[in-house]
Amino acid sequence: MKQSTLITKTRKDVSAQEQSINAQLLERAGFISKLMAGVFTYLPLGYRVLTKIEDIVRESMDELGAQEMLMPSLQPKEPWSITGRWDTVDILYKVKAGDKDLCLGPTHEEVITPLVVHYISSYKDLPKSVYQIQTKFRNEARPKSGLLRGREFRMKDLYSFHATQEDLDAYYVLVKDTYIRIFERCGLGDITYFTYAAGGTFSKYSHEFQTLSAHGEDTIFVCKPCKIAINHEIIKELSACPECKSTHLEEHKSIEVGNIFKLSNKFSKPFKLAYRDKEDKEHEVMMGCYGIGTSRLIGALVEALHDDKGMIWPDAVAPYQIHLLSFAKNAETQEKAHALYKHLQGNGYEVLYDDRDVRPGQKFADADLIGLPVRIVISDKTVEQDVVEFKQRTEKDPVLYTRQELEIALAKTLNIVKR
Ligand code: ATP
Ligand code: MG
Repeated sequence: MKQSTLITKTRKDVSAQEQSINAQLLERAGFISKLMAGVFTYLPLGYRVLTKIEDIVRESMDELGAQEMLMPSLQPKEPWSITGRWDTVDILYKVKAGDKDLCLGPTHEEVITPLVVHYISSYKDLPKSVYQIQTKFRNEARPKSGLLRGREFRMKDLYSFHATQEDLDAYYVLVKDTYIRIFERCGLGDITYFTYAAGGTFSKYSHEFQTLSAHGEDTIFVCKPCKIAINHEIIKELSACPECKSTHLEEHKSIEVGNIFKLSNKFSKPFKLAYRDKEDKEHEVMMGCYGIGTSRLIGALVEALHDDKGMIWPDAVAPYQIHLLSFAKNAETQEKAHALYKHLQGNGYEVLYDDRDVRPGQKFADADLIGLPVRIVISDKTVEQDVVEFKQRTEKDPVLYTRQELEIALAKTLNIVKR
């Protein structure tokens, strides 16, 4: 992508009232734009990050054997009255349409459970699992943390249906392992903890995936060797690591990036979702639900991976992999820069090519702010010496490489993109 054709520019005028680091950096770099509190436009660079994260999540869900579908955001009141949640869910956006009461979906148990009643009636129909990646609406009281807490945000929600509690328990472990791999692939594996939390139905705990971050809204107690944490809400009840029983737990601020729940019969009961076993005896279907905040993940990545100059994207979710900066003054350099851009693209790398007519200082500052994993500089001087300047965003100083050395360094640093 030629940077001169990009609709966005980096901005210096982002409101200082935007307190969160993720919103500040993402807005300044032209990844997102705030429409109102908790509601954002994903601009081309930000939308590429969202798409990459959602592709990783989608691939992982498909590997798990879950099937993708898409449910409506606009929902009728009736199923929410059946579960009693019309009056108890305080973040529900209620919409009046003539004399009808509607709401905007903050989650989808009230849609999926009555829906599968049409398809699940026998033990032969179980187990089943479906997921969607979709826009959710929640009237959050304090949407002041940028993408971490949106009023309109993106979520992957998976729902599973089982004949027995044991089958649900076994599937829950599979989802947990899949989640660990998703956060690893997104570049947050080292700092994301499987966390015991309150809120299971008929099981003592639910589990969250919490990413360490100084400005996170949650507090967790971490057992580093076991890579396990306990949410502060239940630390009185569970004061030692459930694995090694150690009480040497470190307190950290964190961001909840995922949440998995055993619902058991919480929703199958009100919606009469039942199946008949081999003896023709009726049982309630056991359910699980499993969320990942795909837009919150963008915020978590920025909060966790940045420095005073800007963002630091991991290869797998960066909007582009290489930022090619051209400082060509003469026609030969210009040609070489363009040829290198085409060559890198031809080799399967995603390249943002800064061909703009702006000062070098501006190009360097923008490259640091946007934070792509690799920066390559080509100038009249490097062309004279038959080299290019190479720098990873995580490193301080650039190195000069011949074209052959460049190929080797790129192969070591980046994955070829399939698309
Ligand atoms: P929180 O405790 O942060 O309010 P939650 O427990 O209500 O979140 P869930 O209902 O379990 O969240 O939603 C699943 C996932 O969706 C969460 O783990 C989180 O990653 C994401 N999420 C929830 N609320 C928001 C929001 N307002 N903005 C962005 N992502 C969100
Ligand atoms: Mg939660």
